[in-house]
Amino acid sequence: MTLQFLPLDSDFVAAIRAGGPDAYGNPAEHAVSDGPGNPCRHCLRPIPSGVGMLILAARPFPDLQPYAETGPIFLCAEDCAPWQGDGVPEIATTAPDYLLKGYSAAHRIVYGSGKVVPAGEVSAYAAELLRDPRIAYVDLRSARNNCFQTRITERP
Ligand SMILES: [Zn+2]
Repeated sequence: MTLQFLPLDSDFVAAIRAGGPDAYGNPAEHAVSDGPGNPCRHCLRPIPSGVGMLILAARPFPDLQPYAETGPIFLCAEDCAPWQGDGVPEIATTAPDYLLKGYSAAHRIVYGSGKVVPAGEVSAYAAELLRDPRIAYVDLRSARNNCFQTRITERP
C-alpha cells in the first residue's frame, strides 16, 4: 500500500494568508517560529526558527457535526508549496511519537483505532488502519497536544 500524506487545502491556506477568517471567524495571528516544534500543515515541514508563521484555528472536516474537531495549527506566513510525493513528510517524523486515529467516510472516529505510535511506526500503523474497510482516512495528531498535523489516505 502506498500512503498519501495530505496537505491542508491550498485554497483555504491562500484565503488565510490573505487575511480571511479561520474556523472561528478570526484572522490568523502572526508570529515568528522559535524552532522545529512549529510544523506547517501545508508544506508539512517545520517552520525554521526566525521565519514568520501564522497561528489559526482549523477544522479539517467538511461539515459541523460532533466529530468535527477544531484546533490550533501553524502555517508558513509566506507562500509554500503543498506537500506532494510518496515519502513520509517531516511533519510525521520530527516528534518521538504521534496519535493516529481512523475516521469513517462519514468523518466520524472509528472507535478502537486511536493509538499513540512511535514515529518510526506511523506508516505501518496507518496502513494497518486503512486496510480496515470501515476506515476512510487516518488523521495524524500530536501525541502530547492533540493538534491536527496531517491526514493519511491510500494513494489511488
Ligand atoms: Zn509551509
